[in-house]
Amino acid sequence: MQEENCIFCQIASGAMEADIVFKDDLVCVFRDINPVAPSHLLIIPNAHIESNNDLGPDQAAFAARMLTVVPELAEKEGIRESGYRIIMNTGSDGRQEVKHIHLHLIGGKRMQHPMG
Ligand code: 5GP
Ligand code: ZN
Repeated sequence: MQEENCIFCQIASGAMEADIVFKDDLVCVFRDINPVAPSHLLIIPNAHIESNNDLGPDQAAFAARMLTVVPELAEKEGIRESGYRIIMNTGSDGRQEVKHIHLHLIGGKRMQHPMG
């Protein structure tokens, strides 16, 4: 299911351009337009799921694929051994700006600790 005004749905369907690095029947992975580290990928389900609050048994395959695709992406990015951070922002206090669930995969430099 796609949502008309959602930019990430448009990227997943090919209607909007992005630097896509991986795609299968469940997820689409592309480079963040405003990277915070040398490697900054966004992993999204091809179907429109707004946030982590909308995950349930019916979305389990999407959620699992979003995580299980990470090792091969990290390998391709050359950050599997050096390490990386995977972040999912949720809702207003979680600073989620795009309302289509996504996992940030960030690496290539040592990150600041988010809890100070
Ligand atoms: P959030 O704050 O919702 O967790 O992260 C949204 C991310 O999407 C941001 O890091 C932002 O740079 C990225 N982003 C927003 N619009 C676009 C776009 O049109 N293309 C790409 N590739 N990334 C985008
Ligand atoms: Zn969407």
